[in-house]
Amino acid sequence: MEMDKKSWQEALVSYMNRAEASTMMLWDCDPGVGAKARKLYAGMEREALALLSKGHAAGERRARALTSDGNKLIALADRLMPEVRRMAWVRARVKYPHPGLKLVQKELRRIERDLPANKRVMQSAGKESVAAGPQDAGEVVLTVNGEEVKFRGKVIKVDYRAAGAKDEPNVEILLKGPGGGMSVRISFAETPESKAINWNKDRMNKRVIKSGTDNDIVPETEMAKLLRGLDKISAMRDLKAALPMEGENLKVKFQTQGLSAKYFFWVDLDDRPHAFFCLDITFTAYGFIKIPYDGNSYTGYGRKEASWGLPELKVFMDKFAAKHLQETGKKPYIGNKAVQDGVKYGSHKGKSHAKGYGVDIDFGRTCGSAIVNGKGYKEKEHKKQIQRYLNCGAPFVYIGNKKIADKYGDEVKYDGSGGHDDHDHVNSPK
Ligand SMILES: [Zn+2]
Repeated sequence: MEMDKKSWQEALVSYMNRAEASTMMLWDCDPGVGAKARKLYAGMEREALALLSKGHAAGERRARALTSDGNKLIALADRLMPEVRRMAWVRARVKYPHPGLKLVQKELRRIERDLPANKRVMQSAGKESVAAGPQDAGEVVLTVNGEEVKFRGKVIKVDYRAAGAKDEPNVEILLKGPGGGMSVRISFAETPESKAINWNKDRMNKRVIKSGTDNDIVPETEMAKLLRGLDKISAMRDLKAALPMEGENLKVKFQTQGLSAKYFFWVDLDDRPHAFFCLDITFTAYGFIKIPYDGNSYTGYGRKEASWGLPELKVFMDKFAAKHLQETGKKPYIGNKAVQDGVKYGSHKGKSHAKGYGVDIDFGRTCGSAIVNGKGYKEKEHKKQIQRYLNCGAPFVYIGNKKIADKYGDEVKYDGSGGHDDHDHVNSPK
């Protein structure tokens, strides 16, 4: 069995991408099967990541675990296959009962067709990594903001705090040439684990706002790029160059548009895998601070990772919570704020949750009902709570009760979509 030595890591990543796509497709086709597939995928992802980052140390055991989960995923696809085929072929001329079905069919056929090759990748990944031995990125030097980053092993952690409103992670890779003229190829990909957190609809589903705009979204495929020196035209995900003469450096910039993410890098010299490393960037949006999930005067709910924002938001929350506790004797429930990298996420559509001044606040604790106009809902208490936001300086409040929305000035708006029937959205002063 011949396995292309230079590309097992790439093959593994592409296999994982496909496994992820298949998992989502299976979910679309049948939620029951999809749930099982997702569990399997999560396990595969862990093994794949360990195999990629630890290589030699991870070895065959992990590769075998991957193979076994991969086969189970394919078995799930096989189980759905007859039904999918029936639908696809029999009803094709009439109408697809599900808009995604044609895609599901295509994806499953591809799995079926590529199964032998996929199995080979899985089975050989561990052996290959053992054979290749540990590969330290020994001759790769990274500088962040002009400072050299020291790293041990193969995971390079970069803590990047934006210094200004439009500042974005900017990492420089210096290749110290062992000899002039040798061809070098640098390529990268976001790791499956990182992608699953950032982009999956049922995880964070992050949408990065284009810098300098409020709502334009950067597509996932344009998030990161390699720039050779100052030549902006050569921006790419896969860069080929010739190494400079001994003693000189080849400068390559790696730029991302503001997102915490993990990337794998391959640096191939003369088409041999020379080094690969994981670049783990934690990005903190400009001016953001960590806001306690549970405060002195409030109880937290919602996503733990969505507990970041501007200092003004924290001041507002503490002030409101203290007032609320003092006036009602109960701590308010305060939910999602912003995520550390200052991007849109989940079902939050507006920019305030991205930019660090929006927060969701529950009213059920003192208003007798979890939803507006629900059984036991006390409008009077809700009105008092809204007044408290305003008294603490909130310039914007989004509520789900039409009747009381008109009782205030322009700051209070009614949301008729039902999205704010069980909580208020409040912007802090900034
Ligand atoms: Zn909100």
